[in-house]
Amino acid sequence: MSNAECSACGAPARVICGNYEFVESGLNRVTLQGIELIDCDKCGNQDPIIPHVNDLMRALARAVVCQPYRLQGQEVRFLRKYLGMNGEAFARLLHIDKTTLSKWENDRQEVGEQSDRLIRMYALVLGEGLQQEQRQVVQDCFPRIGDSTRSVRVWINSSTMAYSYA
Ligand SMILES: [Zn+2]
Repeated sequence: MSNAECSACGAPARVICGNYEFVESGLNRVTLQGIELIDCDKCGNQDPIIPHVNDLMRALARAVVCQPYRLQGQEVRFLRKYLGMNGEAFARLLHIDKTTLSKWENDRQEVGEQSDRLIRMYALVLGEGLQQEQRQVVQDCFPRIGDSTRSVRVWINSSTMAYSYA
């Protein structure tokens, strides 16, 4: 256990190991497991220490692309951002109106099943570090995509970057 400083109140804080709700990803259902946290007794703030952020974001992108339920708004937005695209560029790529994309991203319209696959395909083809997994993902994960839009939680082990759904 080492010492650190709280980013919120500046008080001395402990470094502990725990789980962290990774809302900074833009997804509200991601838990990082076994991560170091700067834990402040004084104000209750917790800051994660994320050592390999690129590896983590890639694991998360893969988890979203492989999720066995239809993509919801926040997941579409996450994948678009993973590709470093703004709404206009991504809408053009998908050959849709950008207001349609905006409705998808804000859960005001359901993403169609073919568009769902297309978004995942673009992520696999253009997403940083995902190319070598294309064949396996399309063959193994795509057939398991269900028709329902259940919200799924992603758990990522922050040492191995292995992920699971719950
Ligand atoms: Zn504090």
